[in-house]
Amino acid sequence: MTRLVLVGPPGAGKGTQAGTLSEKLGVPHISTGDLFRAHIGDGTELGRSVQGFLDEGKLVPDEVTNEMVRERLADEDTAGGFILDGFPRNIAQAEVLDKILAESGQKLDAVVSFQIDEDVVVARLLGRGRKDDNEEVIRHRQHVYRSETEPLLNYYRDIVLTIDAVGEVNEVTNRVLNALDK
Ligand code: ADP
Repeated sequence: MTRLVLVGPPGAGKGTQAGTLSEKLGVPHISTGDLFRAHIGDGTELGRSVQGFLDEGKLVPDEVTNEMVRERLADEDTAGGFILDGFPRNIAQAEVLDKILAESGQKLDAVVSFQIDEDVVVARLLGRGRKDDNEEVIRHRQHVYRSETEPLLNYYRDIVLTIDAVGEVNEVTNRVLNALDK
């Protein structure tokens, strides 16, 4: 069970869980948000082209995102598995991911769905202080999540593992590991 996608609203703790799971399972953590922020920090052309979308909490156009993920998944270190965090974020991206994996005879093992109340996550994010963490942008990201990303849970219904994301970080990690073992 090492080809995983994590799905959950912004602020659900996906990134934190992805980091821990990556260590425990020995597979790379691939966060599209982190990849975009690294491009922005490095001042690359891709970074300049996506900055506005991140600042406003909008999805970066699929062509840009899909290409970046396709390149990352071509790296050797993903051969034994990976944890995708923040991708796919809509059905079109999920279809592209299926295709990318099928090209090398792979498929996803599981989609981990983090369940948490919107009010809880908005409060968490307001405390985080990232540049795209003001209330208006946060509310917009939650809206994008519900309308674009949540439908993935139906798309992936045969392989979804639902996890209660409320609790201590290591408690949540253990819930995921237990669910993956079953
Ligand atoms: P959060 O989980 O708080 O939304 P992320 O770090 O995952 O934060 O993403 C930050 C921003 O990066 C998103 O608001 C969006 O602009 C962009 N982004 C990340 N992943 C994707 C994706 N798969 N498709 C399009 N845009 C993305």
